[in-house]
Amino acid sequence: MNILIVNDDGIFAPGLRAAAEALLPLGRVRAVAPEREQSAVGHAITLHKPLRLDPVDLNGLPVEAFASNGTPADCVILGALTGEAPPDLVVSGINRGANLGEEVLYSGTVSAAMEAAIQGLRAIAVSVCSYTTEDFRAAARATALLAELIQGVDLPDDCFLNVNVPSLPWEDLCGVEVTCLGRRSYINAVERREDPRGRPYYWFSGEPQETRSGAGTDIGAVAAGRISITPVHFDVTSFETIERLATVAEALSARVAQP
Ligand code: MN
Repeated sequence: MNILIVNDDGIFAPGLRAAAEALLPLGRVRAVAPEREQSAVGHAITLHKPLRLDPVDLNGLPVEAFASNGTPADCVILGALTGEAPPDLVVSGINRGANLGEEVLYSGTVSAAMEAAIQGLRAIAVSVCSYTTEDFRAAARATALLAELIQGVDLPDDCFLNVNVPSLPWEDLCGVEVTCLGRRSYINAVERREDPRGRPYYWFSGEPQETRSGAGTDIGAVAAGRISITPVHFDVTSFETIERLATVAEALSARVAQP
């Protein structure tokens, strides 16, 4: 199996290394990741500057690895199109910090997996639910097992898996749950401060507020110590609203249509 690893924490992040080590027994591993951390850059791609791929050594790991000046989504496109063969699987992560609920919309980690799905590639995004941990062992083990287990699974072609692993030792995990996204909005407290020249600057210091975190959600699963697997797709159409807009469309249409 040809595996491409990407991330948003940077090519030298310990989570990427842990994923690479765990996935090596499954086949050929190639890593393409940003040269420095790009968490929360979302799905940005680079159109107005040249992109580089600089070969790097991941402490002797037998992995072809490149640092890029591009975004996580750029890394997927570059990684998929510059290799000898297209990857059979794209693994994004392992991210340091959970990606739950609407965090998937800001996350570079999740956006990279989404870009892979757009490119028609099978992808999983993996995050460990701690912003400070150095221990990626349980998440790495889950990543390698999942990479094997989903091989025969028929996933819709616009779908990828967003996986969150509680920050616990493997033995302390309480199982696995297939979930939907919860809701965890931030109360966007904006702090206003002053720089040394007296000009104001602003800093987001929002507190997370969980508005949908019960049974069946990704937030609920990891809170209960379970690995959460959420199938995500990129069609964000609100199908339930299509019907409700019929009369609006009709009225607008009457004004638009020339007799
Ligand atoms: Mn990150």
